[in-house]
Amino acid sequence: MALAENIQAVKDRMAAAAQEAGREASSVTLVAATKVQTSDTIRAAIAAGITVCGENRVQEMTAHLADNAYEGAALHFIGHLQTNKVKFVVGRAGLIESVGSLRLLEAIEAQAAKLDLVQDILIEVNIGGEESKSGVPAEELFPLAERALLLPHIRLRGLMAIPPAAEEIHGSRPFFAKMRRLFVDIKDKMNDNKTIMDYLSMGMSQDYEDAIREGATLVRVGTALFGPRPPIRRPDTP
Ligand SMILES: *Cc1c(COP(=O)(O)O)cnc(C)c1O
Repeated sequence: MALAENIQAVKDRMAAAAQEAGREASSVTLVAATKVQTSDTIRAAIAAGITVCGENRVQEMTAHLADNAYEGAALHFIGHLQTNKVKFVVGRAGLIESVGSLRLLEAIEAQAAKLDLVQDILIEVNIGGEESKSGVPAEELFPLAERALLLPHIRLRGLMAIPPAAEEIHGSRPFFAKMRRLFVDIKDKMNDNKTIMDYLSMGMSQDYEDAIREGATLVRVGTALFGPRPPIRRPDTP
């Protein structure tokens, strides 16, 4: 696998997209989406310049932590998090990107309080209003953010989104633009020095350049770095 070459190619395209948008290349960080990868592949990615790993699944993350696979990189949790698994993630992931409900927010607060630490989080917005997706609807973002600001063991650092699967090239861009407006808006409203709202996490292998053109500061990329993943088997699909 041409992992080092892939990482460099993605970084080059990120820098070009940033430049096009009049932004510094250093204003965008590549988060390697490491789901299904082995600890050795993760180590190789870090050796080749990955500085942040993003994990989706608690079980995989726990196994890689036991292996010290993330050594030398920061760790973000980017997947759907069930409240009963919060204890495996709080204090282990430096940033939990996928907080999409009040219930989850409060479970994270409780665990962070128990560990006596402050957990950095992003609020996940269901920007496409899709029923099947997690994240808060855009209309519920401000109340949830205000709640987050009141919690002493939570530090709200920004927003994350996964737009609807695009049918055509540049299909995600309008959703990224919507996210940028929400991000600007919420930074205005939450003008409170308790928090530094500096992360807008959006864009994956198919569309990270458009996300950067619209202001992403974190892009989460898997396939373009590691190659295609085996399909997920779901019992309800033929
Ligand atoms: C898998 C995953 C990604 C990366 O997806 P690719 O299309 O492989 O780049 C990004 N974000 C989340 C939340 C993911 O689960």
